[in-house]
Amino acid sequence: MIDTVLFNHTVVVISRDWLNEEVFILTCSCPPGFQSQAGQYVSIMFGGEAREYTLLSPPEASVLRFLIKRIEGGKLSGALGDCAPGTVFNISKAKGYLTYRSPDRPVFFVATGVGIAPFVAMVAAGVTGFTLIHGARTVSGLFYRRELIAAAKRYIPCVSGTFDAETAVPDLQQRHVTQYIERHLQPGLYDFYLCGSRTMITDMTHLLDQRCPDARIYSEAYS
Ligand SMILES: Cc1cc2nc3c(=O)[nH]c(=O)nc-3n(C[C@H](O)[C@H](O)[C@H](O)COP(=O)(O)OP(=O)(O)OC[C@H]3O[C@@H](n4cnc5c(N)ncnc54)[C@H](O)[C@@H]3O)c2cc1C
Repeated sequence: MIDTVLFNHTVVVISRDWLNEEVFILTCSCPPGFQSQAGQYVSIMFGGEAREYTLLSPPEASVLRFLIKRIEGGKLSGALGDCAPGTVFNISKAKGYLTYRSPDRPVFFVATGVGIAPFVAMVAAGVTGFTLIHGARTVSGLFYRRELIAAAKRYIPCVSGTFDAETAVPDLQQRHVTQYIERHLQPGLYDFYLCGSRTMITDMTHLLDQRCPDARIYSEAYS
């Protein structure tokens, strides 16, 4: 049973732009008085269903943007993928704790798929100087690569599927993000921010617990 009182902001769809056959950016109006921090998410209620989606846009933006993967048979991602400009739906206030803390240690962001969204918002809000391990199935799924490379101290793209040997992406790794960390991370004190599939977050947390037991880990699992 959804508590509709919690969905107290109304937004209007401005545009829907497909980045590939399964991922799109949904741009909506920003309701008056809406407040957020980069890295937070909202619950979207549409057609009687409610799900969480991370804000891709930074807090000071005049619109709200979301990076959404259309799930095969998925109720809300499917409905949002079909909705036309002018469609109205409700959202909750911004929630969540995957927000950037002022660091006293090296910072690692690790993202897979649309889990890059909170880091895109942080970069748009001015965060720089991190190492980003960015995972996707294909090079074309490494969304916002240019903006992320510009802000990162180090950017490591990890592609788990096959790629053309000619693909001109510096440092491209053909492995999962966890395999990269397993091979390359030296024991030490770090702040880790993880976002993406629950499997990645579970595997990465176990790995960090063994390799770097004093690392601070902040995470958001999407499935
Ligand atoms: C805090 C938080 C933030 C999130 N932010 C985003 C975001 O920014 N962008 C985004 O695209 N999603 C995000 N998600 C996931 C999102 O909330 C939904 O779970 C997702 O869109 C699927 O909802 P659905 O209604 O389409 O599918 P459902 O109708 O709920 O599920 C349909 C089927 O698909 C399976 N399924 C559900 N999710 C996935 C998945 N991710 N991969 C594969 N199979 C799945 C279900 O087990 C079920 O069998 C976030 C989740 C959380 C908890």
